[in-house]
Amino acid sequence: MDCLFCSIAQGQIPSNKLFEDEEILAFYDIDPQAPIHFLVIPKKHIDSAAALTQQDGALLGHIYATISRLCSELGCENGYRVVTNVGQDGGQSVKHLHFHVLAKRSLAWPPG
Ligand code: AMP
Ligand code: ZN
Repeated sequence: MDCLFCSIAQGQIPSNKLFEDEEILAFYDIDPQAPIHFLVIPKKHIDSAAALTQQDGALLGHIYATISRLCSELGCENGYRVVTNVGQDGGQSVKHLHFHVLAKRSLAWPPG
């Protein structure tokens, strides 16, 4: 399958990595929308959050625990936002599950 984030996960396309292990990869977004903007992806291909099942519970726990640790290391004590866009109305442009993490500015709500 031709998938940009699978290619990044496999190291075929370079990325500015923050963290990597066997299951997940965190890397900076190429078009940052906040002073800190990184993405966390599972290395295995999952289309979006709409494709998640109970079996992905441990993976999701690992992703959120890693986000918490990275945000702590990056000094995001004022808070941050975790977003996953799903499908057309959700504004998903890359069809491989990813969590945006945005920090170091006050973020508006509701989103546009
Ligand atoms: P979404 O619109 O929610 O699917 O988010 C996709 C995100 O991937 C966007 O914020 C893009 O800026 C980002 N992106 C696209 N290509 C790359 C890349 N090669 N390296 C890092 N981030 C990327
Ligand atoms: Zn993929």
